[in-house]
Amino acid sequence: MILEVTEVEHYTDSLFRIRTERPRSFRFTAGEFTMIGIPDTNITRAYSFTNGPGDDYLEFYSIKVPNGPLTSKLQHIKEGDSLEVKERTSGTLTMANIELGGNLWMFATGTGIAPFVSILRDPDTYNNFDTVNVAWSVRTSAELDAYHDFIKDILSDGINNYYPTVTQETPRQGVLQGRIQEHIANDTYWKFIRPDSDKVMVCGSMDFNKDMKNLFIDTGFTEGSKRSAGTFVQEKAFVG
Ligand SMILES: Cc1cc2nc3c(=O)[nH]c(=O)nc-3n(C[C@H](O)[C@H](O)[C@H](O)COP(=O)(O)OP(=O)(O)OC[C@H]3O[C@@H](n4cnc5c(N)ncnc54)[C@H](O)[C@@H]3O)c2cc1C
Repeated sequence: MILEVTEVEHYTDSLFRIRTERPRSFRFTAGEFTMIGIPDTNITRAYSFTNGPGDDYLEFYSIKVPNGPLTSKLQHIKEGDSLEVKERTSGTLTMANIELGGNLWMFATGTGIAPFVSILRDPDTYNNFDTVNVAWSVRTSAELDAYHDFIKDILSDGINNYYPTVTQETPRQGVLQGRIQEHIANDTYWKFIRPDSDKVMVCGSMDFNKDMKNLFIDTGFTEGSKRSAGTFVQEKAFVG
């Protein structure tokens, strides 16, 4: 599909967000990704949707990689330009792959928050679980800007919880310091996460995904896939 860009917002020198029009017939499942690119360049890359399944726009949240084949060009896209969005969608981070019920935990680093923003924009999420919790780790507070207020507003209601954390500066109020793996290892905030009551979704850097998989599989979580739902799922090659 060649779609018109309706909005572009830049947050830091390495992060931005693109919205496009959405054809009425186009469907996807919250948590999935597709391939996007600049028309006529033959360069496409995997991107998670950040819009909800019911929104009348498509949205993507992007890194700017210096000299990156796609993002060195994509970062210059403007309202009114065209974006190629493939119709085929796929992904592991969906409700079909995880057992429903109990507490949902979504753990992300960097742009790995993208599929979880879509899941948070899907009203079914709040019907499927007793509580919905997000922990998002970035290097500096400015890297939270795109979705911080949205997640805070939707989850800080005394039932659901949001734990932003920064690793490379002193955090502002309401933001934790340190890597998610360290918080879990120190039992600081998440000592009650257990396979009989909790469901875990993970999306981030390769190292983060690997650490989190080891940690949760060792404590009895089972990895879900298309074949059978589990208590733990991750998007394996998010940052290829
Ligand atoms: C399933 C899946 C979903 C993805 N969803 C997103 C998304 O929603 N948003 C997004 O920005 N990227 C996402 N990516 C990464 C994306 O496909 C591209 O790699 C990225 O846009 C850079 O493209 P490029 O051609 O400029 O550089 P590439 O040649 O693709 O990447 C060059 C290098 O940059 C680094 N890098 C690439 N992407 C990232 C990233 N997101 N964060 C940190 N470092 C990175 C890696 O070290 C990589 O080897 C996803 C990847 C996969 C596999």
